[in-house]
Amino acid sequence: MNMTANYHTHTYLCHHATGTQRDYIERAIEAGWKTIGFSDHVPMPFPDGHQTRYRVRLEDLRYYMWILENLREEYKDRIEILIGFEAEYYPSCFENMLRVLEPYAYDYLILGQHYVREESEGIYSSDPTDDPEILHRYVETTLEGLSTGKYTYFAHPDIINYTPNDDIYKKEMTYLCEECKKMDIPLEINILGLEPRRAYPSERFFKIAAEVGNSFVLGVDAHQLKAVGNMETLAMAENFAARLGITPLKTVKIRNPKG
Ligand SMILES: [Zn+2]
Ligand SMILES: [Zn+2]
Repeated sequence: MNMTANYHTHTYLCHHATGTQRDYIERAIEAGWKTIGFSDHVPMPFPDGHQTRYRVRLEDLRYYMWILENLREEYKDRIEILIGFEAEYYPSCFENMLRVLEPYAYDYLILGQHYVREESEGIYSSDPTDDPEILHRYVETTLEGLSTGKYTYFAHPDIINYTPNDDIYKKEMTYLCEECKKMDIPLEINILGLEPRRAYPSERFFKIAAEVGNSFVLGVDAHQLKAVGNMETLAMAENFAARLGITPLKTVKIRNPKG
């Protein structure tokens, strides 16, 4: 089965991915995609001026939008191009982040919570932990973010790497999934995590989500051109979903954060 829409694509502008916007678009057309959504790491205007290494820089935001708007026009008869961002929900910074984006005609945000609660606290979500408090704060923070109604879907919801396979994990994640279901937020099966294998996508997480009956979407999370149209990893993702009885959506409903 082929993929026709992917909403999770990075570019060289975030300083840890390679490939230009045009390269990804050309490759997506070759792969038969009907929609490519760019979701580079959002510039985050931290109050203390902190700069994250892995983000689009604030001063590059205008260019990110400009080049994608131009390419969207140039390629409009060949592929749908959506302009988005992968954004954490950091309570102290969220309103400022929206303000920075406000002048631009972007289409969507996806939630990717790389740090628990606040980046300044320095707890990286995918670092292994056996602390139930960290798990709880992750769940609480992401739900708070999603409840703003600004996010189209939840990228790698299972990035939190709580290691004990216990009732606490089950309880917290069941709650997370139930709330996402109420808000009709699709959960992403992150293909980047499959090869080389990361701790996510996590079978125990998606087993819970499948029981809750969430909606799902595959996300390539492309950081390299070769990730686009990679049939091997796509097959791995489809097998992963099929094993759990999950049928991912082909397209998702875009929620425009500007309403
Ligand atoms: Zn991410
Ligand atoms: Zn990503």
